[in-house]
Amino acid sequence: MPAYLLPPLGGNPSSNAQGTNPGSFARPPELGGPRTFSSPDAAGMPAPSEKTAWDFLPSGWRRDAATGFATAPPGFAAVTQLEHARLGHVTKEMRRVSEREGHLSPEQVRDEVAAGRLVIPANRVHAAQRLDPMGIGRATRTKVNANMGASPISSGTDAEVEKLRWAERWQADTVMDLSTGGDLDATREAIIANASVPIGTVPIYSMIIGRRIEDLDDRMILDGIEHQAQQGVDYMTIHAGVLYEHLPFVRRRLIGIVSRGGSLLAKWMIHHGKQNPMYTLWDDICEVLRRYDVTFSIGDGLRPGGLADATDAAQLAELETLGELTERAWRHGVQVMVEGPGHVPFDQIEYNMKLQRRLCHGAPFYVLGPLVTDIFPGYDHITSAIGATAAAYHGAAMLCYVTPKEHLGLPKKDDVKQGCIAYKIAAHAADVALGIPGARDRDDELTKARAALNWEKHFELSFDPDTARAYHDEDLDVDTDFCAMCGHDWCSVRISKEITQFVSGKEAEYAWDKPKLSAALTPAQRAILEQRGVLAPADIHRLASKTRERVHAAPGRKAECHSDVASDEEARRLQGE
Ligand code: SF4
Repeated sequence: MPAYLLPPLGGNPSSNAQGTNPGSFARPPELGGPRTFSSPDAAGMPAPSEKTAWDFLPSGWRRDAATGFATAPPGFAAVTQLEHARLGHVTKEMRRVSEREGHLSPEQVRDEVAAGRLVIPANRVHAAQRLDPMGIGRATRTKVNANMGASPISSGTDAEVEKLRWAERWQADTVMDLSTGGDLDATREAIIANASVPIGTVPIYSMIIGRRIEDLDDRMILDGIEHQAQQGVDYMTIHAGVLYEHLPFVRRRLIGIVSRGGSLLAKWMIHHGKQNPMYTLWDDICEVLRRYDVTFSIGDGLRPGGLADATDAAQLAELETLGELTERAWRHGVQVMVEGPGHVPFDQIEYNMKLQRRLCHGAPFYVLGPLVTDIFPGYDHITSAIGATAAAYHGAAMLCYVTPKEHLGLPKKDDVKQGCIAYKIAAHAADVALGIPGARDRDDELTKARAALNWEKHFELSFDPDTARAYHDEDLDVDTDFCAMCGHDWCSVRISKEITQFVSGKEAEYAWDKPKLSAALTPAQRAILEQRGVLAPADIHRLASKTRERVHAAPGRKAECHSDVASDEEARRLQGE
């Protein structure tokens, strides 16, 4: 009997239970219920809501107890994915989401959409163009959003389209165009036309170009939102949850209101002495969004801007309002996700996620980070990816990336890459931890390639093969059965193989007679080493243009670096001793 007891196990993230890992320590999956993939609750965590989008049907609709689906009033034509799901339809977008998720059938996707726990942001205008539909919810794998957009100081349409391509290259699942400068309309149009991922915006930004926030009126708001919906925007952040009565709560904060939309609307409310117009216009906005099937991303205008302001009265009062707005949007047949913080101490992340799950009845939570410390500007892709991993494990469905430029300036191309990678790590780590079926398969393949000392496969399975390959060759450009980190005699992978399999060297199927030179670096790999600045230009040139002769590995000659020193007989003798 072991002297330890494992916690209750959830699902296994490996499709065929490879390796010796007992399985996920998360809860067993409950697809079709409020928890889907979920972490075990720590003491004091709010329970999930007992309600779903089914409890907020539009007037005149009723749910048929026999079929489980709804009946709409006569003459009703479904437009949104939510309406189709409620009526029991499986749309082509739901089929595509099922294909992309693998572990979900089209019917499961439909049922999650009907419950309001999954959204498919697919504006009908964009869906008719290049959009490849995807799903965001607790039942799906965790998604990553990349923000971009020109500011009045920096960038323009071409640069933003280039950043979009770059974000797609680094596997961002959605992109938000947050432009506040340049030709906003042209930039948005160009981004939508070029995007295969859903595009989100914050419409209030373009509403105040050339005018003061105080001059914003109802007509401008509704026209501005409709214009962007016509252009094909797939989801919109509307900061309707910041209410007049919440404003006193921010007085004692260290950093007040850090959301651009939230601060602008607070200024409008104070100037006019009136309620937030986004809140008072909510039902009209719902009708506009419904016509195009634009998904709400209900903004968190009072999100904390520092650890000291997290989980405070302002943030939680707004979250309650976001729950009310979710219910009202569902009554209009509009898909909803809800935005969240921000800057949250690590210990408070689970509570924040689970409180949202309760107050917003399982609507997907889309969080920015959160950063778990405030003192690392320049490295906030790391401080926030730590929080994002915890957020995704405890309940967030989509993570908005943070780049190294956060708080400091507008992200450039390389910042977009760093942000995307940091967040793909966070999302993937959470998916493995949650036990989502198949989430660990690629990790297992890479582990096997690593154990087999198969460097080519190792690079191929890496998220960023060029960086992995360039870093490897920076020290040792020979494809052999160890690397420069430990060297031959200290290579535990090689030694372990001698112990367990009585052989040294690579796995038989990847083996070759003698260690061989790596191929010459590609221009992209060369650029990575140039940027690192560790090697002299001549060394990088040698790696990028080498021939066997140049490195004394001509045919018939052994390369300088080799490994097959332990014979099978020797290994058996050692083992015998
Ligand atoms: S040398 Fe060290 S780091 Fe490199 S493969 Fe062997 S054990 Fe791994």
